[in-house]
Amino acid sequence: MKLGERLRLIRKEKKLTLKDLSQLADLSVPYLSEMERGVVNPSVETLHKVAKAYNMTVKDLFSGVEELGEPTRNTYPTGFESFLMDFESSYGTINDDWKELLLKINFRGRRPSSQTEWLELYLSLKRILSPKEEKVNDPKKHVIKLVQNTVREYSSTQVPNFGEICTGLGLDVQEVSLPDGIDGMHRGRTIFINSRIQNEERKRFTQFHEVTHYLIEKDGDLISDLHDTTWNQDDGYERQLEQFCNIGAAEFLMPRKIFAGLYKEREFNVELIPYAARYFGSSTIATTLQLAQIAPNSCITAVCALIDKDKSTKQKLHITYSASSPSTKYLLAKYTEIPGDHLIKQAFSQTEPVEGESYVPFRSGKKMPCYCEALADGDRIYTLFHLTPPPNLDQLMLIPD
Ligand SMILES: [Zn+2]
Repeated sequence: MKLGERLRLIRKEKKLTLKDLSQLADLSVPYLSEMERGVVNPSVETLHKVAKAYNMTVKDLFSGVEELGEPTRNTYPTGFESFLMDFESSYGTINDDWKELLLKINFRGRRPSSQTEWLELYLSLKRILSPKEEKVNDPKKHVIKLVQNTVREYSSTQVPNFGEICTGLGLDVQEVSLPDGIDGMHRGRTIFINSRIQNEERKRFTQFHEVTHYLIEKDGDLISDLHDTTWNQDDGYERQLEQFCNIGAAEFLMPRKIFAGLYKEREFNVELIPYAARYFGSSTIATTLQLAQIAPNSCITAVCALIDKDKSTKQKLHITYSASSPSTKYLLAKYTEIPGDHLIKQAFSQTEPVEGESYVPFRSGKKMPCYCEALADGDRIYTLFHLTPPPNLDQLMLIPD
């Protein structure tokens, strides 16, 4: 039976008209008609909607479907063969039924056209068709769990060593010359690090960033969820994936348990940024990111620097990096200018941190009152914007690990 025939049969059994189904599944009558006639290949999202309308799984829809429409082609579409080779060399064989299915289904409204898109389609289908449908509720937590499990399994030390993690995961690492702006990449089980990276901290961050890419890809759940939530945004998928890999890298370099131990000894304040960076041998940017992830209150962490953004006027203080704690829904955009009257500017004339009531200078011009801390380090300023009061040492003792 062809897929279209099967869909028609189910509808007849359920005694529904195309119009009924159209309302239940939120799809147009002409489109549903074309689908049943086998004129169009439905997308994953469409199949999901139809299955939901019938109170069935996508797998049920395919039950008894042997032929999906067009005959099997002799040549594969772009990217398909490299996807197969790459995937199979790392994770195992994809059987013919699966290949057939992949070739018939659209992804984000069209046929996949690159190796990455084929992989995304495969992972998403696999999740929909697998019996247990586990949703990733909190993607950041999910990434952190992946990292923590990896460290627990393969590392002999609390702060893991890159070589040991790679050996454990069976990853091959190659230092090669990559174009400027690309610090690293990975294909299957091989990680490539740009041999031109001079800065040791940046290199370590890149190494673990790529390991996290591998972990996320192998896990699959997160990727499926990501494209469910970002599939109508242009670059949302890539951007979010990169952010998750940065969070993973920070967790590898500065395990939260140890980091939290530092601030329980020293209080949660802005001085932790340079202190923890030295302690873990990581960059202050990575430390700023991880500090936000483990913050005990709602806060935004940031690095500000004097930059000449307009290339004509004089250097002005801007946000060059910022991160928000998990309980904070506000983001401070990169290159937001710090107004001349802002408290944190005073940090430049001090060797000690400055602090006091001030505000978050959003790019929109909106000022949100908050308690600020700032510490100068050469030509940059580390900053904490506390949206809720920072806990004191006694309160920190009460926070469970
Ligand atoms: Zn990346």
